[in-house]
Amino acid sequence: MPTPRYVILHHHTGDGEHRVKALPRPYYGDMALIQDTGVTLRRLDFSETSQVMVFFTRAHGKVRAIGKGIKRSTKTRFAVGIDLLEVGEMVLSVRQPRQEALATLTEWKQGRALAGLREKLPRLYAGQYASEITAALTEDWDPHPDLYDGLLNLLDELCGADAVAEPIVGYQCVLLQQIGSWPEFEVCVACRRTPSAHGDLYFSSLEGGLLCRDCESGFTEKRLVDRRGLAMIRSRITSSTAVAREGRQSDAVVEGVFDVLNYHIAHQMGREPLLASKLARGKGHTHEGTEPRL
Ligand SMILES: [Zn+2]
Repeated sequence: MPTPRYVILHHHTGDGEHRVKALPRPYYGDMALIQDTGVTLRRLDFSETSQVMVFFTRAHGKVRAIGKGIKRSTKTRFAVGIDLLEVGEMVLSVRQPRQEALATLTEWKQGRALAGLREKLPRLYAGQYASEITAALTEDWDPHPDLYDGLLNLLDELCGADAVAEPIVGYQCVLLQQIGSWPEFEVCVACRRTPSAHGDLYFSSLEGGLLCRDCESGFTEKRLVDRRGLAMIRSRITSSTAVAREGRQSDAVVEGVFDVLNYHIAHQMGREPLLASKLARGKGHTHEGTEPRL
């Protein structure tokens, strides 16, 4: 296979195809080209001219790829590279066995622009939170097409969202279900009985669900759960998204659900998501803000 010499970038700038000369490839081994659609979960400056991206692709799951020479400016334009939470079609050159090396990005065609996402800070933080937890809780080359679709739906929804808490709670639910970490919210995980309708109710991440008031004293890792939020979680699981959203919940209830699901997600990740505190400050409100450097 000939070594790709260029990263071909197609951006929405109206000036057509943009070719960036790639740096020499360090190896010429057993390579395969794969084509996929994906979204940038992380981007790291690798050198003055190159960038390493973590993509979440629809058909191949999370993939790490280097874009060599991607930031190099030309006579006619400044090379911008690829932004965080950018969606596009890509061609990757992958060494076999693919798990052992960075893929090399050879072509990128920007898809939906998601311009609304960058217009308001809470939307951008919500998108960054989703990308952070997705990157942390999925494995390289482990496909989750339904989770990919859920993430793209979230990003589309955030583009016009006045309040970001409900969409992000919806994505927390999708993520936990798709990675097989959905907690038990119907019965107490210790005694398997339906908790009584009154009194304190707890949630344990390590135990994987609710603890009733008869059982909770035997467990140290736990937190209180708001019963109104519990009803919201159950309705999201048993009914379609559209139906679940007919009865809009108060901001406090939605934020309570976010906190419980984020608590469980933090336990799965082994740390608190970095973006959770930024989201907590802006949740449910719309602020005008300047775009931060990503
Ligand atoms: Zn119990």
